[in-house]
Amino acid sequence: MAAEQKPILIVGGGFGGLAAALALGQRGIPVQVFEGAPEFGAIGYGIQFGPNIFHVFDRLGISDEVKSVGDEPSALLMLDALNGDQVIRIPTGESFRERFNQQYLIVHRIDLHTVLLDACKKIDAIKLEPEAMMTTYQDHGDHVSIELEDGRSFTGSVLIGADGIGSTTRAQMIGDGDPLPNGYVAHRTIVPMETVTADVPRDVVVLWGGPGFHIVHYPLRHGTLFNIVAVFRSDNQAARGDVEAYRAELHETHKATQPEAKALIDMMDLERRFVVGDRDPIRHWHQGRVGLLGDAAHPTLQSLAQGAGMAIEDGLHLANLIHANGDDYETTFTQFAKDRYLRTARVTLESRYIWDFYHCDGIEREVRYQMYKDQNEADRFQCVSWLYDGFGFIDR
Ligand SMILES: Cc1cc2nc3c(=O)[nH]c(=O)nc-3n(C[C@H](O)[C@H](O)[C@H](O)COP(=O)(O)OP(=O)(O)OC[C@H]3O[C@@H](n4cnc5c(N)ncnc54)[C@H](O)[C@@H]3O)c2cc1C
Repeated sequence: MAAEQKPILIVGGGFGGLAAALALGQRGIPVQVFEGAPEFGAIGYGIQFGPNIFHVFDRLGISDEVKSVGDEPSALLMLDALNGDQVIRIPTGESFRERFNQQYLIVHRIDLHTVLLDACKKIDAIKLEPEAMMTTYQDHGDHVSIELEDGRSFTGSVLIGADGIGSTTRAQMIGDGDPLPNGYVAHRTIVPMETVTADVPRDVVVLWGGPGFHIVHYPLRHGTLFNIVAVFRSDNQAARGDVEAYRAELHETHKATQPEAKALIDMMDLERRFVVGDRDPIRHWHQGRVGLLGDAAHPTLQSLAQGAGMAIEDGLHLANLIHANGDDYETTFTQFAKDRYLRTARVTLESRYIWDFYHCDGIEREVRYQMYKDQNEADRFQCVSWLYDGFGFIDR
């Protein structure tokens, strides 16, 4: 079979992999997506997106479906967890929509994933392979092949590694070891809204920042659910452990926080903790006929809430370039990284600065308050315009 007749292989059916598959499939380019989990799906927590994401969803024709499963908060609020003072407020209502031409979005990950998956299922050119964990790949010069854990193998014209922060594709291509843990862990919880006991605003995204910890919360599914993420510095990075010991550790971390923050902590499910980390940005994400996108290429801390946004932007842009350049994959992958590395590196690096900003203490904390107290709405919008104004997609 000639190389151009073979499908494009995508390893990883997360947001980035599915966005790429949908954008390719809509152009009639055959694509096969391999997902290691038994079913295509997402972990069951909330996720936030800036207005930049709608530049992609509009082009994929799924904005209405996405809006119908998500919600628009009225503001993004940062509070000082030690005294309850407001540090920053970015309104995300009418003036925000006018400035950025699109809305801010909070959505259940499963609901967004379902929208992408359903759109993919309607396209004959897209084949979805669940329970398909890739262990290794080979670049044969004019085509690629992959091996799965269960012994099956597949061939394609190129391979796109969209397999997340612990990417197997990246490990084989670049071999730069594990992601860099930053010393923090996260616990995530979703509860029915009517069970929320903490006296906190329910229609906004709130971040309580304190020395060495933060809590984020916001509503989901049209106000019926409440999503909480508690993040803090910890020497205990085990994914699972003694829940009572985890609780004691969180209470110690929050001993000086406001009663509302303590009430949120009491609602946390502590069964599972996630190690927080990223990687230093790099300029090149491909070798021969194999390329990376999303977290596999440029994982970031979650402080800007843009990791999935960048993965989805990547998916569309890479598909556009493949469509434009045909079988010239060297040009496609080279151009892709050239176009995307600075924007994604800025997300990674600004996320690190913001991480420190969330967690500062002492005089630094006082300076933080002073720096932002006099900012007006236009100043706030200006700070995020490089991100929320979106990426310059080629429409060809
Ligand atoms: C606490 C927390 C909060 C966050 N909040 C936000 C937010 O609000 N907004 C935002 O934009 N981002 C957020 N992020 C970041 C976001 O979750 C990631 O950046 C995003 O999921 C990356 O998408 P991806 O498609 O590149 O990878 P993933 O979503 O990780 O998908 C990779 C897929 O590949 C599969 N896979 C892995 N290895 C293999 C293999 N060998 N073979 C086959 N399949 C494989 C996995 O099962 C998975 O389905 C947050 C992250 C964390 C930890």
